[in-house]
Amino acid sequence: MRRGRGQSGMDTILPEAERFGLNAGGVVARRTGTRVWLYSNFDCNLQCDYCCVRSSPRAPRRALGLKRIRQIAAEAAELPVSEIFITGGEPFLLPDLTEIVDSCAVAAPVTVLTNGMLFSGRRLGVLRAMAGLRVTLQISLDSPTPALHDAHRGAGSWARAMAGIETARAEGFRVRIAASVATDAQEEDFTRFLDETGVAADDRVIRRIARRGAATEGVAICRLELAPEVTITADGVYWHPVGAEDEDMLVTREELPLAGVLAAVREAVEKQQCGTVKTFKCA
Ligand code: SF4
Repeated sequence: MRRGRGQSGMDTILPEAERFGLNAGGVVARRTGTRVWLYSNFDCNLQCDYCCVRSSPRAPRRALGLKRIRQIAAEAAELPVSEIFITGGEPFLLPDLTEIVDSCAVAAPVTVLTNGMLFSGRRLGVLRAMAGLRVTLQISLDSPTPALHDAHRGAGSWARAMAGIETARAEGFRVRIAASVATDAQEEDFTRFLDETGVAADDRVIRRIARRGAATEGVAICRLELAPEVTITADGVYWHPVGAEDEDMLVTREELPLAGVLAAVREAVEKQQCGTVKTFKCA
């Protein structure tokens, strides 16, 4: 079934089955600007070998900052923004993450992407302070057992991610589990694990590793065929979170005002004359 292009040029339903994390099946391409991504920072406690933005403990922070995020959130509340995603880097490295999430949750439901490894000490307090806000935690877990996850993310990271999932659930948060996989077999293995552990369909994301950033292998992601998901960083606005430091994905260097950002992305969509779009499931 194919639905014609709407005014945004992006209302296309594609017929193929979901494959390789490039979701081309039965999905309406999200209207540009309803989903907004904020790269809160780029530094991370991990250095995963496929990180699409090359985050690491040595990466410069490049924080959007609370002041800018408050401005974006205030505008988002007046615009048709229905989802806000906060990602990095590792957002829980930021001491003011609670305030950041609080300001965004006023505008729309928020999802924070995290490796789940920092829910202790002061940062457990940061997590607890988010209780009651409209927030979901999307925690990365790549495999049912430690070997594969740790091979990409570092020794001991699987056990700490599992502990983080348990902590978040015990604190009453909705948790979505997100896996990056390289093969059909890995995807099937992880799907079986999620089925056996009772993870609901809405609380799981499995996508292929993208050949971006630090990754030397994975699916090629091309802006020309990728549905845009407005992505705001300290360095500018990008077409999609999976290419949030790549020149080919850059839309504009102006992060504010948000209305101008959305207009710039829509203009880029029109210029690009997207007819066939795929979605890459970062969340
Ligand atoms: S993939 Fe996520 S956890 Fe890994 S280095 Fe990148 S931001 Fe950090």
